[in-house]
Amino acid sequence: MQKDQLLMRRRALLAGAAALGAAGAAGTAGLLFSGSSDTPARSGGPAPGPQARSALKPSAYRLQPLTGDGAPRAEPGPTRVRHEPILRISGRGRTMLLTFDDGPDPRYTPHILDTLAKYDVRATFFVCGEMADWNRDLLARMADEGHVVGNHTWSHPLLTQLTRRRIRSEMERTSDVIEKAYGERPLWFRAPYGAWNRAIFQLGAEMGMEPLAWTVDSLDWTTPGTGTIVDRIESGAAPGVVVLSHDAGGDRSQSVRALRKYLPQLLDDGYHLTVPRRS
Ligand code: ZN
Repeated sequence: MQKDQLLMRRRALLAGAAALGAAGAAGTAGLLFSGSSDTPARSGGPAPGPQARSALKPSAYRLQPLTGDGAPRAEPGPTRVRHEPILRISGRGRTMLLTFDDGPDPRYTPHILDTLAKYDVRATFFVCGEMADWNRDLLARMADEGHVVGNHTWSHPLLTQLTRRRIRSEMERTSDVIEKAYGERPLWFRAPYGAWNRAIFQLGAEMGMEPLAWTVDSLDWTTPGTGTIVDRIESGAAPGVVVLSHDAGGDRSQSVRALRKYLPQLLDDGYHLTVPRRS
């Protein structure tokens, strides 16, 4: 696909930026895992509008009562402006996050969801608006199955080269389509290529989103072979680790196969795989 090739080329050019993002100062945040309940991190999210409501199937996750004063807000509340993204999550025990970026892609995402469902594991999907827009059914499935959906911009640009106005547009449009398809606006944001700047942190905070980067990069987008992806994730496994993989942007069949191998292994090793929770 031409678009895949374009994305690959952009990625190859920007591999340095991604490495910078991952190697920044330790950004461990005072955030909590969702604990044993493993429910998605949505304590005060907005109620979907009538349009979204009718498009969505009932979900046990969405039917949980809201906490706080019980009044749903129109937007996630503003968060404080960070100066670096969160790179790992603090929590008790052997807890890790699996994250999948750039999707959803109907060729790969359903297989990833099937594997997660088989092992009763929840993950985080940082979706691009332009992918989410024509795969709304997959976002609805993510909601139904308890996964967290985060904002990964509309078209996966290098945000640090854009004006503030365009950055805002990339982020807002994506949150809009996520709200329509998933039922709630995202509480988490990840900059493409791990390239962050002050405007991105400020805008994300204004939109009520926390910036989540990663600890371990599987580099699955380089299609290094299923075994290599499995090895990277298993050798990088440790409490608090956030794993980066991809469910779109090219041929992700290796990523799909790798998950089938490392997921049961991580569970055998005693890891609790969960989703981020806002404290
Ligand atoms: Zn990406």
